[in-house]
Amino acid sequence: MRHLAIIGSGPAGYYTAEAAQKAFGDDVHIDIIDRLPVPYGLIRFGVAPDHQSIKNVSRRYEKVALTDNVRFVGNVSVGDDISIAELQELYDAVILATGAPNDRTLEIPGSELDGVIGSAAFVGWYNGHPDFTELNPPLDGKNVVVVGNGNVALDVARILAKTETEFAGSDIVGHALEALKASNVEKITLLGRRGPHQIAMTPKELGELGKLTRACPRINPDDMPDEGDDAMLEPGMRKSVTHLRAYAAIPEEYRADKSVEIDFDFFAMPVEIQGDGKVEAVVVEETELDTDMRSNGTGNRTTIPCDMLISCIGYRTPPIEGVPYEHGRGRFASDEGRIMPGLYCVGWARRGPTGTIGTNRPDGYAIADMIAEDIGNGAGKQGREGLDALLKSRGTDLVTFRDWKNIEQAEIGRARDGAPREKFVDVEDMIKARGVM
Ligand SMILES: Cc1cc2nc3c(=O)[nH]c(=O)nc-3n(C[C@H](O)[C@H](O)[C@H](O)COP(=O)(O)OP(=O)(O)OC[C@H]3O[C@@H](n4cnc5c(N)ncnc54)[C@H](O)[C@@H]3O)c2cc1C
Repeated sequence: MRHLAIIGSGPAGYYTAEAAQKAFGDDVHIDIIDRLPVPYGLIRFGVAPDHQSIKNVSRRYEKVALTDNVRFVGNVSVGDDISIAELQELYDAVILATGAPNDRTLEIPGSELDGVIGSAAFVGWYNGHPDFTELNPPLDGKNVVVVGNGNVALDVARILAKTETEFAGSDIVGHALEALKASNVEKITLLGRRGPHQIAMTPKELGELGKLTRACPRINPDDMPDEGDDAMLEPGMRKSVTHLRAYAAIPEEYRADKSVEIDFDFFAMPVEIQGDGKVEAVVVEETELDTDMRSNGTGNRTTIPCDMLISCIGYRTPPIEGVPYEHGRGRFASDEGRIMPGLYCVGWARRGPTGTIGTNRPDGYAIADMIAEDIGNGAGKQGREGLDALLKSRGTDLVTFRDWKNIEQAEIGRARDGAPREKFVDVEDMIKARGVM
């Protein structure tokens, strides 16, 4: 019997489990350990609450979770409740699928001011992540600046711009819905260091901005490259740019009944955040692109009002004691996922925060192949029995998949009308809810 411990129950964790089941059949026991009592990582806490069809991928993970040789071990934080060295003693392979949950910080003067928020925190707040329940983002001001030109920036802008009715059918948490209902935001500026041909926004998400009830995108037509140059783009990107061209052509009359503007400020980088204790303005420098499409400041600076700044500029994996780490890139150090025989990383913890949910699938399968090469038939380790004994001796209250299904039922039971669920937003409430059935 081979014993595998996968740390993290997001897409990378579940795809790795699926691949290991295929590789080893009945000759494997897999424990998927997560620091939270609820599974699925960013499927629950990252993917936007108004994108329920994307969240449905968790049904595939549930199939894996419900097979006999896979177990979910929630509410156990690796690095705190148990060390990597201890797990290596107990399991033939330990796989870090811990994602990249920490915001990369905007390293400019003023970034410590109140009202400057990273997207992990803001997204975690509206998705009910227990770490960010108390965030209380300042929504009383008119101007929000969102730094970044990727899909996370689009999610953030869309969530800020939607009316209550547009959240029907979503699982946005109650505290966020109430706060957004009372929001005074009128202008959301998306700052991008480069231009329309360099965005990392996909067509579907970009297209949604053109269909909002009270909000309308604005793009300066002078920022758009010559239309003939679009032919050089790959098809998905060309489609995204087509949306930008349509937004640049929106006539002023159309904006008359729109109370929120989403302004794409291309070729613009924040260089300073100003304010007395809290953010009040952002100094923005115009940029131009060199022949390698890198952006360079031109020295032309303007100051824009800002009551809240949300930076969507990437994420880092927190280090775990005893695991080699690439500080520059903010991820574990590995050779294609092999940290050393018996210790691996996968998904965002391996690659950094890039790619879609599906990108983690081949990652998981490649790691399972590596594990097969390295561990043979297993070395007679204790596996889950040893883990349970150790956690019991420490008084750790682990949460099982059956407990999670009870929590899920309780969340479904307390949903608003038309919503799929009302999530519990703190760990204690989740743990209490496991006993409801
Ligand atoms: C805001 C946002 C929106 C996104 N929207 C989309 C989308 O619409 N479509 C799409 O295809 N992709 C989307 N993505 C990307 C997608 O979510 C990622 O590709 C994917 O979640 C990465 O999977 P992962 O398993 O590596 O990490 P995660 O999903 O982050 O999972 C990591 C898991 O590890 C656990 N963990 C962390 N540290 C520990 C520890 N020390 N001990 C135990 N457990 C631990 C965490 O609790 C978590 O459950 C989005 C990403 C973000 C940030």
